Amino acid sequence: MSNVLILAEHENGRVKKSAHELLNIGQKLASQIGGQVEAMVIGQGLNDLIQDLGSFGAKKVYAVENAQLTKYNTVGFAKALAASVEQAKPSIVLVSASPLGKDLLPRVAAKLGSGLANDVTDLKINNGKLLATRPVYSGKALVDVTFNTDLQLASVRPNSFGAGEPQSGQTAQMVPVAVDLGTLPAMMKELVQGKSDRPDLTEAEMIVSGGRSLKSADNFKILFELADVIGASVGASRAAVDSGYAPHDMQVGQTGKVVNPKLYIACGISGAIQHLAGMRNSKVIVAINKDPEAPIFTKADYGIVADLFQAVPLLTTEFKKLLQG
Ligand SMILES: Cc1cc2nc3c(=O)[nH]c(=O)nc-3n(C[C@H](O)[C@H](O)[C@H](O)COP(=O)(O)OP(=O)(O)OC[C@H]3O[C@@H](n4cnc5c(N)ncnc54)[C@H](O)[C@@H]3O)c2cc1C
Repeated sequence: MSNVLILAEHENGRVKKSAHELLNIGQKLASQIGGQVEAMVIGQGLNDLIQDLGSFGAKKVYAVENAQLTKYNTVGFAKALAASVEQAKPSIVLVSASPLGKDLLPRVAAKLGSGLANDVTDLKINNGKLLATRPVYSGKALVDVTFNTDLQLASVRPNSFGAGEPQSGQTAQMVPVAVDLGTLPAMMKELVQGKSDRPDLTEAEMIVSGGRSLKSADNFKILFELADVIGASVGASRAAVDSGYAPHDMQVGQTGKVVNPKLYIACGISGAIQHLAGMRNSKVIVAINKDPEAPIFTKADYGIVADLFQAVPLLTTEFKKLLQG
């Protein structure tokens, strides 16, 4: 078959943006190989999710409804995905290169004996086969991966493609998938969410990010004040995280999160290649740095050469005036 099957991740009863993104790119690839895009979803109480996936273009949704799989489980999810692939017979399978996807897909590839490209940022069809591009050396070089197997698996770096828009009246056909899980060797007992009411950085539309120059965790509050006024999330460089000014889940970059907001405000961040690897795809980049030669300015759309301890509160005040009348 010439279909593209995507794995839809979900959280708190909502399909994640990464799944909408996979449906969007999946649809484009499927139309080039003469097939359709389909989704699979794992868990319990999946009906609303299936409707949502249909509105974003999935023609069929393979559903593994199983009480043992309400929380992520590598072995159980691998069995579920492999069973769906065997039932759906797609030629391409896409999952997000999220922690879940990166953990899951190599096991599924080994199970099915298929080729795998991990953490790709571009996908094309070349002579009917998938051509996947992945960055190496922190994005300094790109590698093209081609497949020798009929089944082609790829994990896609979040925020590499747009998410598309839902279409009312578009629905998906639900296809139940039965999986014999056997005895799972380990189960996740509890998933504890980090305490934050801001959107996750990978889903945020605006991000205010701080570097080592913030000098303390306490000083990060000036970034949170600006973020509160404009409705942004707060990120950090690795140097700020390593110095204990911000928790690791705020780290943006090669070994942190890859983000794709509409606006990224980098405050006192030098612009090292490993940081750029995580935020270079932001639509508009604003950099505040007191060094006019800082490398971040070569990537910024707007540069403010200033001391961030003066510039950030000033921006907060001005945005407040503008937005709150
Ligand atoms: C394998 C590997 C993986 C890595 N992964 C990541 C990653 O995921 N994310 C990441 O961010 N880094 C990562 N790094 C680290 C990266 O190389 C840099 O060390 C780091 O990004 C630097 O952080 P910084 O810009 O906050 O600090 P610095 O490089 O110290 O820069 C501070 C900047 O702030 C400016 N400044 C100082 N005071 C002020 C002020 N008062 N007002 C305005 N500007 C001021 C300075 O001019 C300077 O440009 C990685 C490194 C390695 C080797």
